[in-house]
Amino acid sequence: MGQLFGTNGIRGVVNQDMNAKFCLEISSAIGTYFRKKFSSPKIAIGTDARLSNSMLRSAVAAGLLATGCKVVDIGIVPSPVVQYTVKKKDFSAGIIITASHNPPEFNGIKVIAEDGTELSKEIEDKIELIYFNKEISLVDWQEVGTYNQYNDAIDFYRQNILSTIDVELIKRKKFHIVLDCGGGAGCTVTPKLLKDLGCEVTCLFCRLDGTFSGRNSEPLIKNLSELLKKVPEVNADFGVAQDGDADRAIFVDENGKYLLGDKTLALAAKYFTKRNKGGIIVTPITSSSCVNDVVIKYGGTVIQTAVGSPIVARTMIDNNALFGGEENGGLIFPDFQYCRDSMMSILKIMEIMAIEDKTLSELISEIPHYDMFKIKVACPNDIKKTVLKQMEENIEIGKPTRIDKTDGLKLYFREGWVLVRPSGTEPIFRIYSESDDPKQAENLAFEFKEKIEEIISKNRN
Ligand code: MG
Repeated sequence: MGQLFGTNGIRGVVNQDMNAKFCLEISSAIGTYFRKKFSSPKIAIGTDARLSNSMLRSAVAAGLLATGCKVVDIGIVPSPVVQYTVKKKDFSAGIIITASHNPPEFNGIKVIAEDGTELSKEIEDKIELIYFNKEISLVDWQEVGTYNQYNDAIDFYRQNILSTIDVELIKRKKFHIVLDCGGGAGCTVTPKLLKDLGCEVTCLFCRLDGTFSGRNSEPLIKNLSELLKKVPEVNADFGVAQDGDADRAIFVDENGKYLLGDKTLALAAKYFTKRNKGGIIVTPITSSSCVNDVVIKYGGTVIQTAVGSPIVARTMIDNNALFGGEENGGLIFPDFQYCRDSMMSILKIMEIMAIEDKTLSELISEIPHYDMFKIKVACPNDIKKTVLKQMEENIEIGKPTRIDKTDGLKLYFREGWVLVRPSGTEPIFRIYSESDDPKQAENLAFEFKEKIEEIISKNRN
């Protein structure tokens, strides 16, 4: 199992893997599953701005209708807006048609449970089983679903998100923000939301663009040159860039410095644990130790999970966590909803800046700094398990002080840590290493790269 759904839904190139026939079939399997669970399931569909969104939405809707689900089309909206609508408006489930930050030729399907979180692995497996075993049950003609549109999802979301933060406090600060939506779904709500908060907004790529012609939709430093330049040029308080479906946000300080997602994650984690005098913070094992440092300092506890935002969200629910998120700019604020939400991230960062009365660079300078190093090693999928096992048997080399097998193999040493993790989607191992000395981080990564390459080559013969 797990052949279709990756860490964040199903993705593929349009009219190749991700074609109308496939979408019809997989959504019929999804519809069959929900029809068994609810007598009359009502499913919301939202899309990002990609050129293929109408084609795939039609196919997905047809599969759901054919299996007796009611479909409500909520249009082009950010993923967190779909998730909030599903949770609050009494939907049985939601489907987001998006490939997040992937290039424009890609598209994908993400299924949302009735509580607004991404579907658990167990349910995804059940849907895959229906799909592969061809157990789709079409309903009789008189039970075919109804199709409606709901046009107020964005306004509903906007009003509710504003009720979770201190609007007056933020308004008094009169923030100037450079907002880079990258032509993604964030355009539909973020500029308006920031204006509601009395911000001056300088917009970059804030018009929906299904081809992402302005910039690549992944908010990596190499894709954000215009934002980095613009922030100091217009004297803004900070800059922020969203990915294609606006669940992730990456910040740029007032000097035009790109801030790694770990830093904003640690900043928010610090704020919550400090205010609460402790509490639980959830993040994957790939996150920087700076998160752990600040949380422990204020009496909190960090739970480290396997990689994947649905896992982080569900662990947060199970442990009544204060806050959680990923190092890629995906932050989860449980007071609002249990999913990554870039709009909420922007609002919270502004709130923290306002409460602490500090600039973003000042706040970030208070977060401990570590250097992280990431490399990949090619490895055929079928030997990944054996390779990892043999790697485990060899770990006495270098004498780690602690071993964590949550996801791959994470080894802590006096000089830092290294994580060797098989990718869930590509025939590679990812190696992450971190230390307060950049040279040490690099050395650790290369040392383990060599080790794993040796094991891989043995297993290839
Ligand atoms: Mg995304």
